[in-house]
Amino acid sequence: MPTYDLLIKNGHVIDTVNNIDGLMDVGVAGRSVAAVEANIPESSGRRVIDAAGMYVTPGLVDMHAHATGFSGSMFPEEMCFPYGVTTMVDCGGSGWRTFDDFNANVIKKSAVRVFALLNIVGQGMEGDVEQNVEDMDTELTAAKIRQRSDIIVGVKVAHFQGRGWESIDRGVEAARLSGSFCLVDQNSKPTRPFDEMLKRLGPGDGVTHCFGYGKPIIGNDGKVKPHYLDARERGVIFDVGHGNNSFSFSMAKPSLEQGFPPDTISTDMHRSSLHTSRAQMTEVMSKFLAMGMPITEVVARSTWEPAKAINHTELGTLTPGAPADIAILEFQERPCGLSDSGPTGYRIMKADGRLINQVTIKDGSVKFDYDGLSKDDWVDTPKTDLNLP
Ligand SMILES: [Zn+2]
Repeated sequence: MPTYDLLIKNGHVIDTVNNIDGLMDVGVAGRSVAAVEANIPESSGRRVIDAAGMYVTPGLVDMHAHATGFSGSMFPEEMCFPYGVTTMVDCGGSGWRTFDDFNANVIKKSAVRVFALLNIVGQGMEGDVEQNVEDMDTELTAAKIRQRSDIIVGVKVAHFQGRGWESIDRGVEAARLSGSFCLVDQNSKPTRPFDEMLKRLGPGDGVTHCFGYGKPIIGNDGKVKPHYLDARERGVIFDVGHGNNSFSFSMAKPSLEQGFPPDTISTDMHRSSLHTSRAQMTEVMSKFLAMGMPITEVVARSTWEPAKAINHTELGTLTPGAPADIAILEFQERPCGLSDSGPTGYRIMKADGRLINQVTIKDGSVKFDYDGLSKDDWVDTPKTDLNLP
């Protein structure tokens, strides 16, 4: 009797939590990781995937994507499974008024594990309603988060065009009231400078689009601005949120060179970031590889770091007993150009290759298999009576 329902052999396993960075086999039993060990006999797997030459990582955790709330939102399955993502966070598409609909129509029906950051605006991210200060209710937002703390992981503040601090202060307050965190996407204004905004955030709160050209992390002197360093020191996290307008190599490269990597790598996936700026998770990870970040760090910032940020430390790891969410990634070596986004004109960084996702496994079940590594050859199709009426 095989011990494992699924056995992934010969892969290079990267699991930050358990300090694994080398050749290992991974056994899955039912919906859970059962073993990560060297040389697990092939006979102990009911189904065996040969991952030789590939990386085997925890299922990727994308803490900034969009599955509801505005016209660009996408189905979780289409933006996650093809790219190794098993867990996504909808980043503020719904607010306390609209979350239940989102949950009923999308989250419950999705095979992807979907969490939500609740917009501080009760109506969520739907164009002009985001400007309605009257609808930024700290108590009702916090109450909804507490009620559905199984799915809602925190608060999102975004796109407020007003002069003041209402959106940010209320978002942070709602996070405090609900024991969660607040992720902010706000450009600076003369009345609302970025350095002061960072001071209003506490440990565990975060800034997304951290390498966006519209919120320049690099000053005219070419250096990471000191208030970013101070904020990181205080435990504020910095998230990529690549998107269509929010990632520029001209910000990211010097930041990395100066020892300021992002805490979390994420996509800001929506229909506009899908093709032009290629914000898919594996593609964004490839951009960090191309900038010289070691693969172990790229994986950590795409698995364990976001799992910690959203307070779901059962995810982002291959610890035996954890949900069997696994990605099998291949570095496809061939000269290529990787695109950044929007305001700087979709420039490319030349690279030696890119990560592509071969297999996505969620809760022990294969959800995406690019080259059919888990499948049998067609010539073994079972014989049956083909003379159907
Ligand atoms: Zn976004």
